[in-house]
Amino acid sequence: MKVANILGVPFSTRGFSETVDELAARIDRGQQTQVVTANPEIVMIAQGNPDFQSVLDQAYVVPDGIGIVYAAKWLNLPIYERVTGVELLAALMQKADEKQWKVYLLGAAPDVNRLAAEKLAQRYPHAQIVGRRDGYFRAEEDEIVAADIAIHKPDVLFVAMGAPRQDIWIAKHRHQLNTSLVMGVGGSFDVLAGTVKRAPSIWQKLHMEWLYRLLKQPSRWKRQLAIPRFVGTVLLTKWGKRS
Ligand code: UDP
Repeated sequence: MKVANILGVPFSTRGFSETVDELAARIDRGQQTQVVTANPEIVMIAQGNPDFQSVLDQAYVVPDGIGIVYAAKWLNLPIYERVTGVELLAALMQKADEKQWKVYLLGAAPDVNRLAAEKLAQRYPHAQIVGRRDGYFRAEEDEIVAADIAIHKPDVLFVAMGAPRQDIWIAKHRHQLNTSLVMGVGGSFDVLAGTVKRAPSIWQKLHMEWLYRLLKQPSRWKRQLAIPRFVGTVLLTKWGKRS
C-alpha cells in the first residue's frame, strides 16, 4: 500500500476515486480492511498513545480533514485531496447498489440509525441492508453486537460511534465480524438522517468546513484545539528536518 507518514500515522496517498476502487477490489476479494478517516484530531490522539497508534498501524487510513492535506504539502508528501467519511460512505453505497453488497449499519442514536437506514435503502435500492443497531450499548454487550454482525456476513460495516471510540471498537472486534470492509464514519448517520447538516459547499471549497462545524456545534471547541497543536507539531517536524 502506498503510504505517507504524518507524525507517525500512515496515510494512504490515493486520491478519492482511486481509494474507492481499491476498497471495492478488496471487498470483491474478501480481504478484510479497517478504514479510519483521520483528521488532525485523530493524529494528535495517536501521539504518545501506543494502543491507538497500533490501531492506525493496522488500518487503511485516509486523509479526512483539510489539515492533513496542508500538512502533506508542508512536508512534501504526496497527499493531494481529502477523502472524507461522508463522501466515501456515499461512494461505497453506490458500489454496493451496483454489486448488491450486504451492508450493516452500527451506531448513532436509535432514531438516527433507523432514519439513516431508510435514506440509504431509498437511495441505493439494490444494496442489501442486512442489519443495523444503534451505538448506545454497554461494553458487556460488545460480544452480542459483534455476533449479530457476524451472523449477517456483511460485505461492508459502517460504524458511526464517533472517533476514536468507533475505531478502537472496530480494531478490537474486527476478527469476529465476518465482514470485509469495516469503516468508522463518525457523525455520518446524523448527516444522512438530517439531524446534523454538513457545511454548504462554499464553506467546503474555502477549506472552512471545520469552522462551520465549530460554529454549529460550539461544544466541539475543546476537541478542535487539536488543530493548532497539530499545525505546530507538523511545522516543528518540518523545521527539525531542515536543521
Ligand atoms: N455515538 C454512538 N454511541 C456513543 C456515542 C456517540 O453511537 O456512545 C454516535 C453519536 O450519536 C453520533 C456519532 O456517534 O451519531 C458521533 O458523531 P460525531 O460528530 O461526534 O463524530 P465525529 O465525526 O466527530 O467522529
